[in-house]
Amino acid sequence: MSKTPITVAYGDGIGPEIMQATLDILIAAGAQLAIEEIEIGEKVYLKGVSTGIADSAWESLRRTKVFLKAPITTPQGSGYKSLNVTTRKTLGLYSNVRPCVSYHPYVKSKHPVMDVVIIRENEEDLYAGIEHRQTSEVYQCLKIISRPGCEKIVRYAFEYAIANNRKKVTCFTKDNIMKMTDGLFHQVFDEIGAEYPTIEKEHWIVDIGAAKLADTPEIFDMIVMPNLYGDILSDVAAQITGSVGLAGSANIGDHCAMFEAIHGSAPRRAGQNLANPSGLLLGGVMMLNHIGQGNIASKVHNAWLKTMEDGVHTYDVFAEGVSTQKVGTKEFAQAVIARLGQKPTTLKTIDYPAESKRIKVEIKSRPRYHKDTIGVDVFLNWDGSSANELGDKVRLCSTDKLKLVVISNRGVKVYPDGMPETFCTDHWRCRFENPDSKPIMHTDIIELLSKVNEAGFDFIKTENLCLFEGKKGYTLAQGQ
Ligand code: NAD
Repeated sequence: MSKTPITVAYGDGIGPEIMQATLDILIAAGAQLAIEEIEIGEKVYLKGVSTGIADSAWESLRRTKVFLKAPITTPQGSGYKSLNVTTRKTLGLYSNVRPCVSYHPYVKSKHPVMDVVIIRENEEDLYAGIEHRQTSEVYQCLKIISRPGCEKIVRYAFEYAIANNRKKVTCFTKDNIMKMTDGLFHQVFDEIGAEYPTIEKEHWIVDIGAAKLADTPEIFDMIVMPNLYGDILSDVAAQITGSVGLAGSANIGDHCAMFEAIHGSAPRRAGQNLANPSGLLLGGVMMLNHIGQGNIASKVHNAWLKTMEDGVHTYDVFAEGVSTQKVGTKEFAQAVIARLGQKPTTLKTIDYPAESKRIKVEIKSRPRYHKDTIGVDVFLNWDGSSANELGDKVRLCSTDKLKLVVISNRGVKVYPDGMPETFCTDHWRCRFENPDSKPIMHTDIIELLSKVNEAGFDFIKTENLCLFEGKKGYTLAQGQ
């Protein structure tokens, strides 16, 4: 078999140790890999490359299209963007697949029966990273959810279920509050789910869903979620199997794929031969399946299961009475290598297909809806405290086409007829609508803004109010 080119980054913190352990096991098992090594992360940031990755590293990634990546440290503070997020988005890795499995009774867990695959949307949501400080008091982060983004991840989840013989897909959103963004995710889940009659489907509001996941994970099979909920809840799910160090992750796109552990660089554990390499190793197993080396993937996975069964454990899963031997990173790798060719006795043996079974997702159509703009929200930075005073002044800015309808502060209506108890910041949204709900032009908005400016107000942004095929593309203020 010819060697498959892959790009490898050793990362930061515990990264170099767990990557060495992982590669030692994969190569001992007979994986055919032509490794291109790149440097990313902290060292690159500190050289002044604010993205944490040099141009030459991108070239390697675009050439091999397969990336095995150890965790990296994102320096805290402004000026540094998370390289993980940048890599996922730049390479179009829209689907983050995170299997979280209990290994009872060999790894101590409160949840002996747990085998949940979390499918996390990887490119959208609050991770667009579009943030602004708009006033002295108010900061904003945009939550971006697109229909093609929802369609891709939801369809991927159902196709994954079919390909991997899973029975149920659950969706978590918060669409009782975020009716448009999370509402779209839920709606697409219902639409696409209807095309998969053999798969059981359910939706939970994320807060109670998360509580159920932490309490009774055995009731879940697969969960598909927008980015932020998936990020948080896959850590929870991995941790309750026994350790966050046990779960691997695949980031899949149309062109490239990246494989990693779900945990971070755990800097406090670095350089001490302590870390558990299992998460990255299982990420490596997913990579072997992706590149069509399923036989080697099965060999590695079974040897790893046997090692766990034999009680050879790193500190994070070691428990008196359950484990037999507490080992470091290197010794753990040697224990897995010694068991290559063996199968677990009690835990389920793994038998991956030899050929790669990649899931391809097509967006069926991208219809364009007729859009009419019928109003505008003008956001003001205003230091006064009386909503009535502001409303009486802003009302005078109304034009023939655009009349003031409501003012809200942090989303809740404060004018007209606000409540004195409502706390107000210096960030006010003034909603102007066409009294006849007739379409307006950009020039009508410019005329309004000129009057707002002449009246001495500091406007910080506008949002157009649109109808799509006659249906409102915005929500009402709370209390409106
Ligand atoms: P973390 O996941 O690195 O570590 C949290 C704790 O979990 C550690 O202190 C350790 O007790 C335990 N742990 C994690 N991995 C382990 C392993 N393999 N073996 C044993 N114990 C393990 O989370 P953090 O401390 O919040 O983040 C540290 C850095 O990692 C940050 O800079 C963060 O931005 C980065 N990070 C990177 C990735 C990634 O590269 N994909 C993901 C998450 C966080």
